[in-house]
Amino acid sequence: MEILRAVATGLVPSICAACGRSCRPEAVLCGRCGRRLAAAEPLLGKGPSGLDRAWSSAPHEGVARNLVGALKFRHLLPVADLMADRIHWLAPAHMLSGAIVPVPAAPSRLRRRGFDPAGELAAALAERLGASLEPCLARRGARRQVGRRRAERIGHPPRIQATRAAPRSVMLVDDVLTTGATLTACAKALRSSGAARVVAVTFARRL
Ligand SMILES: [Zn+2]
Repeated sequence: MEILRAVATGLVPSICAACGRSCRPEAVLCGRCGRRLAAAEPLLGKGPSGLDRAWSSAPHEGVARNLVGALKFRHLLPVADLMADRIHWLAPAHMLSGAIVPVPAAPSRLRRRGFDPAGELAAALAERLGASLEPCLARRGARRQVGRRRAERIGHPPRIQATRAAPRSVMLVDDVLTTGATLTACAKALRSSGAARVVAVTFARRL
């Protein structure tokens, strides 16, 4: 019971979410992983087709990659907060404007996991920025992307639809940018439902 209460109040993990070594209570990362993440260089560019700009806080490797896995597969909510903090501190101001739209999870994946990493990160970021959170996209009949080869994934972009009118200025948020096919499909759906500006912000980017 005490452990459950500690979990609920965020006192654990006192185990580093990236490397599994013990760290000080309430810390998400040990000192070593914290320093490594701090040294990772953010990436800014035009981004996948359909976007005005894309910014990622770190390459998808090392500590950043471990954190993406910890959020996706171990559902460690403090990790979403840490990711949102890093984005909030490091992203240029021009990237952090507009309504926040999380990249939608596949319904089957959401059912299986009961957890939506992009949604959690988007909510944590919206809270920090005082921005509005507008989950106005849905994914239809997506095939599983994990385990598919890159060429296959690009060949089968996810089908994404707007569920209501999109905000005019949008900041798409996802935990990781991989091929960009998903972001492109999101941008297309947003623009066809009213968005004039679409930028993407992700915690990590696969190079
Ligand atoms: Zn560590």
